[in-house]
Amino acid sequence: MIDLKTYEVWFVTGSQHLYGEETLAQVAVHSREIADALNTSEHIPVRVVFKPVLTTAEAIWELCQEANAAKSCVGLITWMHTFSPAKMWIAGLNLLKKPFLHLHTQYNREIPWAEIDMDFMNLNQAAHGDREFGFMCTRLGLSRKVVVGHWGDADVQSSVGAWTRAACGWHDAQDCRIARFGDNMRDVAVTEGDKVQAQMQLGYSVHGYGVGDLVARVAQVTDNEVDALIKVYEERYILRPALQVEGSQRTSLREGARIEVGMRRFLEDGGFKAFTTTFENLHGLAQLPGLAVQRLMADGYGFGAEGDWKTAALLRAMKVMGSGLDKGSSFMEDYTYHFSPQGDKVLGAHMLEICASIAADQPTLEILPLSIGGKADPARLIFNANLGPAVAASLVQIGSRFRLIVNAVEVTATDAPLPKLPVARAFWSPKPDLKTAAAAWIYAGGAHHTSFSFDLTAEHLADYAEMAGIEFLLIDEHTQLAEFKKELRWNDLYYKLSQLS
Ligand code: MN
Repeated sequence: MIDLKTYEVWFVTGSQHLYGEETLAQVAVHSREIADALNTSEHIPVRVVFKPVLTTAEAIWELCQEANAAKSCVGLITWMHTFSPAKMWIAGLNLLKKPFLHLHTQYNREIPWAEIDMDFMNLNQAAHGDREFGFMCTRLGLSRKVVVGHWGDADVQSSVGAWTRAACGWHDAQDCRIARFGDNMRDVAVTEGDKVQAQMQLGYSVHGYGVGDLVARVAQVTDNEVDALIKVYEERYILRPALQVEGSQRTSLREGARIEVGMRRFLEDGGFKAFTTTFENLHGLAQLPGLAVQRLMADGYGFGAEGDWKTAALLRAMKVMGSGLDKGSSFMEDYTYHFSPQGDKVLGAHMLEICASIAADQPTLEILPLSIGGKADPARLIFNANLGPAVAASLVQIGSRFRLIVNAVEVTATDAPLPKLPVARAFWSPKPDLKTAAAAWIYAGGAHHTSFSFDLTAEHLADYAEMAGIEFLLIDEHTQLAEFKKELRWNDLYYKLSQLS
C-alpha cells in the first residue's frame, strides 16, 4: 500500500558565475556524486535526484516552481558547495511549498595538508557558503532541517533519511482522506477538535459517515469472499478450537471476516487512508470491528478508536514514515500501571484494536466477550508486542493550535504471562521514568490514545512537526519536569505572540 521508492527528493546545489566554467563543472561533478551516494544509501528510502547547479535567481525560482508542481517530489535537499549570494534565493524560497533540508556538508572530507592551495579553497567553501544561505532562510523565517557533517557518514545519511521519511508522511497527508464511522465517543474531550483547522494546517480531510453506510457495504459481502478471508486467517494465525471448522464460534468468526471485507471495500472505494470507529455507534453491525481494524492497520491504514480522527491521521503519517521498516506502528492506549520497586511501567492495550504489525509472535485469533458496546462477542488477535525502543505520540489541539507530544519508551517483556488478558498488549518503561514522563505528559495535555511506533524515533516526529509548523514537545531521558513546565509556558507565549503578527 505504501512504497517510498515512488517518492523523490531533489538534490539542489547553489553556486554563482564568479568562479568560471571550470569550477562550476567541478561543482556539478561533486554534487552528482553526493546525490548518487544519498540515492543509494541504505539509510534513505526515497530516490535522491540530482538537479543542475543553480547560479541565478531565475533558475532558483524556476526550480522551486517545478518542485511545487512535481507530484512525486516530497522536498529539496539544498547545499552550497561554493558561495551562493543568498539574495538570489529570496524569490524562489518565498514561493517554495515543499519542505527542504539544508545539508551543511563539504565535498572534501579532511584537509589535504600538503596540497591545499587557493583552488582547493575556492571549491570547498560550504563552511561559509552555507552560512550565507542559512542567514537568508532564517531572515525569511523558513522552517527547515539543518544536517551537519560529511555526506559519506552514516549518521549524516541517517539524519537525512529520517527527514525524507517525515517528508513522505507530510506529502501523504496532503491528500489524505479519513473516513469517520459514527461520531465522537459521547462526552470525551481530547478526541474532539477543529477539522477545518486541521485540514488548513495538516492537509488531511475528515469525512463523516453514518454506520449504516458501512453496514450496507458489509451486507454486500458474499460467502465466497468470507471463505477466502477465513483461509488467510487460518494460514496466518493460531485459531482457538472454537473458531475452527465445526467450532461453536465459527459463525461469529465469519461475521468478523464479513465486517473486514466490507470495511476494506468501503475504504478502498472511497480512497481513504485512515478511519475511525466508535463502540457507541454500531447499529446494524454484529460486533465491534476488532480483527478487521487490527488487520487494516497492518496494511497501512491509520486508525483511531472512539472517533479519534487526530490519532487516525497521525498513525497514518507514522505508517508512511516507517514504511519498509519491520517492527511496526499501532494505535495504542496507556491502559494500566505497574508500580513496582523494580521500576514503574505501563501496560498499553485497547479494547481490541492493536495493530498486528507490532506482534512479536504469531497472534492467536479468539472470540471473547467485550463488556462494553452491547454487541456480540468480537473476534480479535491476541499477541505480545515487539521489544525495544519505541515512541508514543499524541497530537492534541490547544485552542487553535496543534501540539505533538512524544515520549521515548523502552518496551520490555512482561514479568509473567497474562493468560487471562483477552487483548494484544505492550509493556514499557517511559523515559526518563514513569513519574516524570506521566506528569510531563499530563501537564502538556497529552491524550490517553497514542500512535505508537517501534520503527520511528523522536527525530522523525520532530521533523514532521517542523514541516507542519506545529508545536513539538519531547519527553525523553533528558526531560526534567521543572524545565518542561517552563517550556510549556514559553511555548504558550510564543504561539500567542506569533498569532498576533
Ligand atoms: Mn480508547
